[in-house]
Amino acid sequence: MNLLDRFLPQSLVARVYALYSAALLLFVGGGLGLFYQYQFIQEIEDAQQSATMLVELAAQTVADSAVIGDYDTIKRTLAKSILRSQFAAAAFIDLTGGIIKSENTATSAPQAPAWLRDQVAGRLYEVNRNISVGGKDYGVLRLSFAVDNIADGLWQLIRLALALALVSFIGGVVVIWFPLKRWLGTLDRVLTFDHDFQSDGSSAAAALVADVPLEFRHTFEVLHRTATSLRKELESREAALTSLRGVVAGLLPDVGMADGHASNDIAVLSETVAKLVNEREASRHELEQAKFAAEAASRAKSEFLANMSHEIRTPMNGIIGMTELALDTDLTAEQREFIGIVQTSANSLLIVINDILDFSKIEAGKLAIEAIPYQPRETLDSTLQALALRATEKKLRLSGWIAPEVPQALVGDPMRLRQILLNLIGNAIKFTDHGEVLVTAKPTREANGTTMLQWTVKDTGIGIAADKLDHIFSAFAQADGSTTRKYGGTGLGLAITLRLVELMQGRLWAESEPGQGSAFHFTLPLGDDEAAAHHA
Ligand code: ADP
Repeated sequence: MNLLDRFLPQSLVARVYALYSAALLLFVGGGLGLFYQYQFIQEIEDAQQSATMLVELAAQTVADSAVIGDYDTIKRTLAKSILRSQFAAAAFIDLTGGIIKSENTATSAPQAPAWLRDQVAGRLYEVNRNISVGGKDYGVLRLSFAVDNIADGLWQLIRLALALALVSFIGGVVVIWFPLKRWLGTLDRVLTFDHDFQSDGSSAAAALVADVPLEFRHTFEVLHRTATSLRKELESREAALTSLRGVVAGLLPDVGMADGHASNDIAVLSETVAKLVNEREASRHELEQAKFAAEAASRAKSEFLANMSHEIRTPMNGIIGMTELALDTDLTAEQREFIGIVQTSANSLLIVINDILDFSKIEAGKLAIEAIPYQPRETLDSTLQALALRATEKKLRLSGWIAPEVPQALVGDPMRLRQILLNLIGNAIKFTDHGEVLVTAKPTREANGTTMLQWTVKDTGIGIAADKLDHIFSAFAQADGSTTRKYGGTGLGLAITLRLVELMQGRLWAESEPGQGSAFHFTLPLGDDEAAAHHA
């Protein structure tokens, strides 16, 4: 098959045409050959048969004439016999060797080629007939064929057949050429198809597909589908590239993206992106280092503050102790008043210092949260007791309640819980003039499914404006500038509280209505018995 392919032309049209022509030639040639063979045999047989017949016919007359020795009649008979026949000569040879011969003179120049003539001559031989009457021989009658005539007749036939074969071959070849050209020529229109594809519509392509022979239709459809999907793919890639180019141009205005249709467009783009990534990576690294440095500085600052606060607290204790001792001595009313002011000032300074110390400790990451068993009700009671005096001074009702389902013992850091409660209840008392401060605790289910203990400190005080609610948890922040003047405080209490709650894995948030009062909520892990056992 490969060999055949190699010898066939490349073009399908030419290939089909060549095969068809070869087949046609084979059939016509074969037919011609068979025809010749048949005709040749037929002709020879005919000649032989007619010779036999003629010889029989002539023999009778020749015999009669021979008996009486009428050689004249013999000669005439012979001449008559071969007149207008396939025989060139007829002869009678008598026993003495005498020959009476008649030849067909009406022979024209031979037309048949020599080979045909030879072939005919090779198959025809002279016909001899003994002339005997009553058991006595008189001679031999001999007929020789006009080979040229026979060959010419055959040759004429062959020529006619050849001409007919040639005509039918040419006719066949011509007849197949046009439809073949038309059907297979549709394939040439792939070029048009290609052109149409580049210009726009798939409609032309669809029409073309409807036009091609059935065998190629599927191929064309597949081709068309592939081309369409390729085009879509190309379009989306182009769009992606364009937007990418836009992004890069936006990021790096100095990059030469103007000649955006360069052949190495994507290479330039990816190079640019790589450059960008490198730059960003470098700046990220720088930022990281700056952050690290800043954190280190912040830690150093906090550490310094913690140390300083400690250094300040020691002399403060001296001042407060000595002031108390001084107040126990005999003093004039004026001296007592002055030293009283010193004592109050020293106490509030100590509170500030304690706040700063706590805050710095937390910021420096030096505050450890304990996990020990404690009794929440006891913690609440003692905290309320410590603040009871301040509440009664302002004629406020201070009360606490813990839901009965809260276990007696929990695990956590009771010291920090107490500090949080002191802060929140202290604030509530500070910012409430009439009414009450209520502290409650109950279990609550968080969004993630865990159960926490939710504490609430609710007052009927001045409240906080909605836009200040988030702000108050930042360090040194107060709801409004007049607060310090009126109520004192550093603005550190809630910042510390928030950090403590978060250190204990809880949440802190506030709800408030100006003039109506505030509610501060915080959650802490329940620290159930299992956890208690774990920590034991
Ligand atoms: P401060 O030492 O000033 O009290 P905090 O951090 O404890 O600092 O509180 C920050 C600010 O939050 C307060 O100055 C006050 O304006 C507001 N605030 C806190 N608790 C209450 C409350 N219970 N009612 C009204 N305002 C409050």
